[in-house]
Amino acid sequence: MAAIKEKIVNVSSVALETKRPILVSACLLGINCKYNGQNNRKEAVINLAKSQLVIPVCPEVLGGLPTPRAPQSIAGGTGADVLDKKATVLTNEDVDVTENFLRGAEETLKIAEINNCSQAIFKERSPSCGVHFIHSFDKNGKLIPGEGVTTALLKRKGIKVISDEEL
Ligand code: SF4
Repeated sequence: MAAIKEKIVNVSSVALETKRPILVSACLLGINCKYNGQNNRKEAVINLAKSQLVIPVCPEVLGGLPTPRAPQSIAGGTGADVLDKKATVLTNEDVDVTENFLRGAEETLKIAEINNCSQAIFKERSPSCGVHFIHSFDKNGKLIPGEGVTTALLKRKGIKVISDEEL
């Protein structure tokens, strides 16, 4: 059997190592798993999927939340603080969905490990998938620097997480 050759693909300014599958926020591929029942389809990600094995994941659905669902944001910190039990995730009606977010992060990590993924391309600004920014519950949804809950867990486990806005 021919050996799989490692390739480096440049997608805009980001260099991706393509030997292994890449985890991708499912909504970026046009899958209707967003809180409002729609998606965040992004052509750069669709094009990547035509030449590279990608694994779609939606941490919020994996955490047991329905689609559509109420919008949620992190209260009292960032995704890393949620992992450390210092912050919570609340819906816009103050329902605590922290356990769903933690479960979704763990299930996503399992999928990454089963598939030997070392990289993820995630949707910026999401309370699960955000890479550089998230909407803050405490600031009426305004953006603050920080990462989502699943992004924080993947990074702790050594997986490189790239924002879709970097593509
Ligand atoms: S949790 Fe992530 S994959 Fe799911 S809809 Fe939100 S941004 Fe997309």
